[in-house]
Amino acid sequence: MKDRIKIVEGDITKQDVDAIVNAANTSLLGGGGVDGAIHRAAGPELLEETRKIGGCPTGEARVSKGYRLPAKWVIHTVGPVWGGGNRNEEGLLANCYRNSLKEAERLGVKTIAFPSISTGVYRFPLERATEIALKETKKFLEKNKTMETVVFVCFGQEATKVYKEALGRIF
Ligand code: ADP
Repeated sequence: MKDRIKIVEGDITKQDVDAIVNAANTSLLGGGGVDGAIHRAAGPELLEETRKIGGCPTGEARVSKGYRLPAKWVIHTVGPVWGGGNRNEEGLLANCYRNSLKEAERLGVKTIAFPSISTGVYRFPLERATEIALKETKKFLEKNKTMETVVFVCFGQEATKVYKEALGRIF
C-alpha cells in the first residue's frame, strides 16, 4: 500500500493530479497561504464558483472545478484552528482527510494531492497533523481499490522530513 503514497516537496498548484485539496476557511472566499496560492493559480473563476457554494463548516469538504490548474478538481476542506488540543481539533482534522477522500472517491479521482492542512496560520502541530493525515489515508486506501496515488505536498524541507519519517512508521 505504501506504493500508493508519494511525499513530494513543492507547490501544490503545480501538481499534475486529478484533484488537489485546498486548506480553505469556512467562507470559501480565499485567503492566505495555500488557499491564496490555489486561487491565484486557478484564476478568478474559482472564486466565482466558491462564492456560489456559500461556505463550508470545519471538517467538511466541498468540490469545485480546477479552472487554470493542472488538476481538474479542487476539493476545499476547512481545517480546525489549533486551540491547545481540547476542542476536538484532532477529530476535526481527521474529518478533513476522510471527507476529502470521500469526495474524491465520488468523483472517480485516481490521483489526489494534499497540503498539510491546518499547520500554517491555523498552528496545528506538524507532527500530530502528519500522523492524522497518514493514518486517515491508510484507512481509506485499505478499503478503496481505485485510488492510485495520494500525494502529500510538503512546503519546505522541515515538513518533508516529518512526513517521510511518519510514512516509515505508519505504513
Ligand atoms: P491553514 O490555515 O490550514 O493552516 P495555510 O495555508 O496557512 O493553511 O497552511 C497550510 C500548509 O500549507 C502549511 O504547511 C503551509 O506551509 C503550506 N503551504 C503554503 N503554500 C503552499 C503551496 N503553494 N503548496 C503547498 N503547500 C503550501
